[in-house]
Amino acid sequence: MALRVQKFGGTSVADITHIRNVAKRVIETYDGGDNIVVVLSAMAGVTNNLISMAKEASKAPDKRELDVLLATGEQTTAAVLAIILKSMGYKAISLLGFQAGILTDTTPGKARIVDIETKRMEKLLEDRHILVVAGFQGHNTHGDITTLGRGGSDTTAVAIAAALKADVCEIFTDVDGVYTTDPRICSKAKKIDMISYEEMLEMAILGAKVLQIRSVEFAKKYNVPLHVRSSFNKEEGTMVINETEDMESVVVAGVTCDMNEARITLKRVPDQPGISAKIFTPLAKEKITVDMIIQNTRVGGETDLSFTVTKNDFEKAFAISKAVAKEIGAEDVLTADEEIAKVSVIGLGMKSHSGVAATMFQTLADENINIRLISTSEIRISCIIKAKYAELAVRALHTAFGLDKKDQ
Ligand code: ASP
Ligand code: MG
Repeated sequence: MALRVQKFGGTSVADITHIRNVAKRVIETYDGGDNIVVVLSAMAGVTNNLISMAKEASKAPDKRELDVLLATGEQTTAAVLAIILKSMGYKAISLLGFQAGILTDTTPGKARIVDIETKRMEKLLEDRHILVVAGFQGHNTHGDITTLGRGGSDTTAVAIAAALKADVCEIFTDVDGVYTTDPRICSKAKKIDMISYEEMLEMAILGAKVLQIRSVEFAKKYNVPLHVRSSFNKEEGTMVINETEDMESVVVAGVTCDMNEARITLKRVPDQPGISAKIFTPLAKEKITVDMIIQNTRVGGETDLSFTVTKNDFEKAFAISKAVAKEIGAEDVLTADEEIAKVSVIGLGMKSHSGVAATMFQTLADENINIRLISTSEIRISCIIKAKYAELAVRALHTAFGLDKKDQ
């Protein structure tokens, strides 16, 4: 007998008909003898509606109360599924975050799970109950409801799987698995059968929306095998697991495109010790995450400095940069560009294969695409290009690294 955590996303619980289908799917595995913990998202669109409602009520809704409000989306679906399962004669029980023992820190809206008190869940499972846990929520040490950030039900599922030492955490969603790139951009994208945590983490960070970033970090840390699959068919999806030896033979596993960054450039910055600290310390104080940084030294004791931040942080970052530029005498040479895209190639094979960067740059050159900024990690190369070339770049790179689906 295995223990499975099965997470169903918003489109899989979009209405009662869909929730009935979830019930059927859960029962199939349960009747086969496995123990099941189901983790649910809110119905598709509900969390967005709740946020709009709060914003209608107040321009700056109180954060504690916003968490109380947002948690209701998952409370609804968990209760409805439990009602359906019970009406079919099964032993089932809905559990809200606090009832499932999910303890978080006190950051409203983006709380981190710090511990899961598993006793109650374990006892219920021993008694062959189907547990239906409301995703995305927990409680903090003050006894208040918290939420885990958008897409947080993934993290609830993985954290519960880790705490209960489940055999697998299945993420049921509206796509067949993780793809080599976004199929909406590139029709030749194909489903990946197996991918390492590390690659999946890079892909999630770089804009693949299938899994919440934190859930992948959790899975990696606690070695939870993830199976990302469709809730609308029985096909095998993508297994996200520890790196295996043959994974390194694939040089590039995926291509991503992130349109969510903006670039700020300060030209003719004095080339002196302490200047970078002057620019980046106030950004850090405002909790603005800087992604790429590039510095070019000019002849004559000056440098050009460019960096990227998320579009959300752009206005704040630009205002801070303006103030700093004034202070260091680079005021009139501050520029910004919001129309950029970050295209990246990701693959464990880069650790042992050379020439990946050269292939990437040549591919972009062949399409006449100018590269503005470059950054790399051990298993990733990213280039900032003009946003209007993003789709072209993704398709060209997908072909260049041999990822195109053959039967098309
Ligand atoms: N309902 C939440 C959201 O829309 C959490 C989730 O679906 O994972 O972000
Ligand atoms: Mg999601």
